[in-house]
Amino acid sequence: MKLPIYMDHHATTPVDPRVLEAMLPFFTERFGNAASRHHSFGWDAEGAVEKARQEIADAIGAEAREIIFTSGATESDNLALKGVAGVGAGTGDHIITSKIEHKAILDSAQHLERADLNVTYVPVDSEGLIDPDDVRRAITDRTILISIMYANNEIGTIQPIREIGALAHERGIVFHTDAVQAVGRIPVNVNDDHIDMMSLTAHKMYGPKGIGALYVRERRPRIRLAPLIDGGGHEHGVRSGTLPVPLIVGFAKAISLAVQEAIQESSRLAALRDRLNEIITSRLDEVYINGSATKRLPNNLNLSFAYVEGESLLMGMKDVALSSGSACTSALVEPSYVLKAVGLGEELAHSSIRFGLGRFNTVEEVEYVGNKIVETVNRLRALSPLHELKKGQSVRPGREVESSS
Ligand code: PLP
Repeated sequence: MKLPIYMDHHATTPVDPRVLEAMLPFFTERFGNAASRHHSFGWDAEGAVEKARQEIADAIGAEAREIIFTSGATESDNLALKGVAGVGAGTGDHIITSKIEHKAILDSAQHLERADLNVTYVPVDSEGLIDPDDVRRAITDRTILISIMYANNEIGTIQPIREIGALAHERGIVFHTDAVQAVGRIPVNVNDDHIDMMSLTAHKMYGPKGIGALYVRERRPRIRLAPLIDGGGHEHGVRSGTLPVPLIVGFAKAISLAVQEAIQESSRLAALRDRLNEIITSRLDEVYINGSATKRLPNNLNLSFAYVEGESLLMGMKDVALSSGSACTSALVEPSYVLKAVGLGEELAHSSIRFGLGRFNTVEEVEYVGNKIVETVNRLRALSPLHELKKGQSVRPGREVESSS
């Protein structure tokens, strides 16, 4: 077994060697610009892009022309919200999203609020689940967009997307989902789920960083977007800029492999995740699981270790890559807003660790990480005066009902 062990696959994933192999020729001999119309280098690049576009579309039940390439899901999320708001100004000025979205959505929503749009942030229950009735109640005659993430990047909760999509369509409202953590891990089909726009990124599915896509429905209804970037009119004028052909080829290979292997991989990862949970919870008390027991990504485990600071726990086991709070917001030292939204008090929110298992993790690694957690938590608790004082008294009743963040 090689150290350090990587178990933070919600933050990013390594490029699968099969993906790298598919990409390599497009850096060197097949380097053409896909927009070059007058020579074979351009035609070759364009052919590779269109083949990739079709493969990505096939993986989610879409049409090739409905895939708009972007630099990643941050851009896709921005384009979805600001793009709809940009054209929807005449018809309405209200957007519905949730309190536990990724910052790419929350910050875009705040940007729109500053531009005088109204945003409703629906809450989640103690498992991190959205109640579709809350979404229904939030709808007004002015609502132009509902954006709810498919699966959460911290606690792995899978939302009732199909119900929310159906609800949006009933009312003629555009429905967007950030499916970054879901695609390739669980089945996602834009038609079955009534999705009009969907954000994707390659680096969460063993593809390269710097490439993503926004699925944009073409028919019934046709979604129109105002571009964020002006330029050469690439991607139907919605997203100008020379296409990064090697990245696009890698993205297509990665999503095809992930979807093909999803069933097998999901059951393997769920078994590893359950084993990890068992090692930890059978040997430590006052460990609390965050998120849903059933509606959860197969590779996700999020635990709070009472009396232990998540940051100190990570410092105490430097040969394992895990995350406390969300990796995407780890520049901030505040406790995770997702954990606060599910009702965790400051203490338990600060003591949470996210485990994200992935394609190359082994049973051996899971045993190592589980044992290392038990050892490190015991060591830190032995040093904690609070733990000595409160030994045996559960801190669970200290949970807050809901936070306003
Ligand atoms: N949305 C979710 C749910 C994510 O987990 C992430 C990345 O952490 C993003 C969006 C941003 O994706 P990207 O890194 O491609 O910009």
